[in-house]
Amino acid sequence: MAVLLPLLAALQYYWLGQVSEAATERLQTSLRASANRFRQDFNREFIRAYLNFQMDSLTPSQDIERYHWERFEHWNQTAPYPRLISEVFVVNYDEQARPRLSRLNVQGKRFELTEWSIEFSNLVDRLAQKGKSFGLTVAASGQNLLEPLAEDIPALIVPFPISSTDKPPNGEPPHPSGFTIIKLDLNYLQREFIPSLIQRHFDDPHNEYNLAVISIRHPERVIYSSRYPAVNPSSSDVSTRIFGLESDELRAFATSEAGATAGGEPPATRQLRLIKLRDPGGPAAVSSTSPGEGNGHWQLLIKHQAGSLAAAVSGVRRRNLAISFGILLLLATGIVITAISTRRAERLARQQINFVAGVTHELRTPLAVICSAGQNLADGIVDSPLKVAQYGEVVYREGQRLTNLVEQVLEFAGAQSGQQRYEFRATDVSHVIKSAVAACQTQIAETNFRLETVIEPSLPAVRGDEAALKRAVQNLISNAIKYDGENHWARIHAQELRGKEGNEVQIAVEDRGPGIRSVDVAHIFEPFYRGAEAVAAQIKGSGVGLSLVKEIVEAHGGRVSVESTSGTGSVFTLHLPIATEADGSNAELTEDKKS
Ligand code: ADP
Repeated sequence: MAVLLPLLAALQYYWLGQVSEAATERLQTSLRASANRFRQDFNREFIRAYLNFQMDSLTPSQDIERYHWERFEHWNQTAPYPRLISEVFVVNYDEQARPRLSRLNVQGKRFELTEWSIEFSNLVDRLAQKGKSFGLTVAASGQNLLEPLAEDIPALIVPFPISSTDKPPNGEPPHPSGFTIIKLDLNYLQREFIPSLIQRHFDDPHNEYNLAVISIRHPERVIYSSRYPAVNPSSSDVSTRIFGLESDELRAFATSEAGATAGGEPPATRQLRLIKLRDPGGPAAVSSTSPGEGNGHWQLLIKHQAGSLAAAVSGVRRRNLAISFGILLLLATGIVITAISTRRAERLARQQINFVAGVTHELRTPLAVICSAGQNLADGIVDSPLKVAQYGEVVYREGQRLTNLVEQVLEFAGAQSGQQRYEFRATDVSHVIKSAVAACQTQIAETNFRLETVIEPSLPAVRGDEAALKRAVQNLISNAIKYDGENHWARIHAQELRGKEGNEVQIAVEDRGPGIRSVDVAHIFEPFYRGAEAVAAQIKGSGVGLSLVKEIVEAHGGRVSVESTSGTGSVFTLHLPIATEADGSNAELTEDKKS
């Protein structure tokens, strides 16, 4: 067991470590998969919007107004999140190639020329590059160019189809004649769109994860955060780029059924026109995507509330380890307790055998004396009245001894079975002592013993059962006589003691016998326990006397103590609680006795 338990503990530790690693990996994978699904769903809606407004080359230029209005109607009727788009604009160029902005008036079903507002300030610079050699680059379908997004507004920029008149003569890349600007509703995106996707893809009923969407170019710009402060990009468990129109995704969407209806054309004829707008801030930061993260202007960050996934798993591991070790500890304690109680049971069994042997021995001597005295009387060997009286005395004495022994055994059995009943009332201590001394008279006389009794005057009554207390004191006196050595002296001292812990009456029985060895002192109040010296000296006894004394005084709410040094004698003291009004007075007690 001593080897098995540590081995189990070590195995448990090792296994839990392995399980934790696997759990971290599993969590990470599932989180990544969720993030991926989120990204696809997120981007899909913008692709849907993009394709919805992308004109095909057949749209006559005079119908642009009607086209946009119809597409907007179509969007509102078919899109799963129609409120994503807040407004639709169109950019045209005047004769000086200056971009002009027109806003779609949905009610009036027409475009109204409008000023470039501050939110478009970044965009207007980029659109104004038209006509210059470093201007716009138009890519045909299939080229993996960066998406035409203005993340700061946020808006989607859809180029008009390239017509033959758009082609510059000097071989430069062609320019579209205008753009559709789809302005997104940021408020709706933050409050409804992102939360609904999070709810769909991250099953997190206990809010264990902190999710945030931040701008990559300006990480301090938090678009969404499930909790504040938002997740720091450098400390997230999983991250993925979103809000990018990737050509792969565009193609996948366009060839899908949803894509087929979005633009109204059959998928095979759809042309995807992606535009890379010249980036006024230098090389695009978004181009530095790490593999597997995809493109995008925003970043979805996920972090476990515990600090990291590994920290969360190691927290669970610590808890599991604590439980496992707790169980092992419980097991170890159980084993120790079983071992202890087995030892105790063994010792008790040994003591019980000794007890039976002791009691039998104690019975045998008086019985033998009584039998032979009776035999002599019956045989008429004893003829003189004096001798008869002496025989009678012997039979009485031995009978008394037998009675005491039987009573002790019965009382012990009663105490063990819990059936012992005491009648507590105010009890006169001197009376208890006197009757105990009287009961030991035969022993005293036989050994020529000198027993001093000192009872302090005006001793208060104690709360007790007089007969039981008498037996306790009698046991102590009897032991003092039995284990007396050569001194033949003992003293009973009764006094009242007032202390911090309350007042009590003490009855001390002091002898100058051989004393008790310190190894025995701890055990002498246990049932059947006999001191090694007592056994060696063949002093008769059963080992239950002191256990009974302890039982009696404890039932009285008191205690018994012993002071003993080997060779100098012992002092056994009974500490008894003083009687209260409720226990009746001494006077009543005397009346009781008389009656
Ligand atoms: P018993 O006297 O029948 O052995 P007890 O329970 O009365 O049983 O006492 C238990 C043990 O305590 C004794 O065996 C003895 O070793 C020791 N003991 C008790 N009283 C005294 C005493 N007055 N002096 C020395 N040893 C004592």
